Amino acid sequence: MRDPFILAGNEIAAGDRRLINLPMPDLSSQTGIYMPVHVLHGKRSGPVLFVSAAIHGDELNGIEIIRQVLASRTLSRIKGTLIAVPVVNAYGLIHVSRYLPDRRDLNRVFPGSDNGSLAARLAKLFIQEIVSVCTHGIDLHTGSGHRTNLPQIRADLDDPETERLARQFGVPVMLNSSVRDGSLRGSASEMGIPTLLYEAGEALRYNDMAIRAGVSGILNVMRALDMLPATRASRGKVKDPFVARSSRWIRAPESGMFRADVGLGAQVSKGDIVGHIASASEGTRHEIRSLHDGVIIGRMELPVVHEGDAVLHLARFKDDIDEVGSHVEMFQQDHGSVD
Ligand SMILES: [Zn+2]
Repeated sequence: MRDPFILAGNEIAAGDRRLINLPMPDLSSQTGIYMPVHVLHGKRSGPVLFVSAAIHGDELNGIEIIRQVLASRTLSRIKGTLIAVPVVNAYGLIHVSRYLPDRRDLNRVFPGSDNGSLAARLAKLFIQEIVSVCTHGIDLHTGSGHRTNLPQIRADLDDPETERLARQFGVPVMLNSSVRDGSLRGSASEMGIPTLLYEAGEALRYNDMAIRAGVSGILNVMRALDMLPATRASRGKVKDPFVARSSRWIRAPESGMFRADVGLGAQVSKGDIVGHIASASEGTRHEIRSLHDGVIIGRMELPVVHEGDAVLHLARFKDDIDEVGSHVEMFQQDHGSVD
């Protein structure tokens, strides 16, 4: 029989699944608070994959994605070990906030430290108990600040194994990003653990397309890692995604009330009208035009904006833009976009 898996001093026998609650620093009321960690330790050996959500406590789609992945019956055939952490930042979740009680952004303080801020201690706990025992990782996020994202993968595509897995996730657009920004993805990658960041939907809202694409993406990556058997339906199903050459935000040219004229995933050409800024009081309205050809991968959903606010995220491609556009459209149809 294969050896048990050890996580934070807990033994999980081969073939078992367990929920381990990792203690974190108490709430100010001295109420205990825990990081829930699901461990599925397969009978046969293979990679050790972590999937994490709600590092930002108001990003909820990932919590539901992990719930659905854990409910998937195909996991009974798992090779290797899945470590799923649906709520990394429970402090943020209970306050419906992106941040920690000390107002720090957890995803800027990795790898953390034992003696630093609450955020740094939590980051250190996650690195020490979860990341350091894994071979691969997927971190789930949504847009922030009232912005919503077309499902997309951000990863260090210069690393071959990371790129291979990113392509297998099954979303149409990938962004190459190797920045060292204190993020979990950055720290894990520096430890030699290929890690994908999945960005989809918006904070504080469930989004069906984001959830569906996230669940199938994680299972696709597990198949690519040979942690799950390929099914007849899955074999050859993942369409090769497009890597954005660059991406940039179109910014509000003036303050006022923003209204987008294009949806997520829309293909736009240079000079197209993509939105308007109206005056809340004077009845005037000015158009916003796209400066480039591309595809809309992020959008401000809150109309109230100031001059300079990022309102539409435009990805540019080397590839034929019509091909990218039709792939995105097909993906949205397949995943039931209501946008
Ligand atoms: Zn996030």
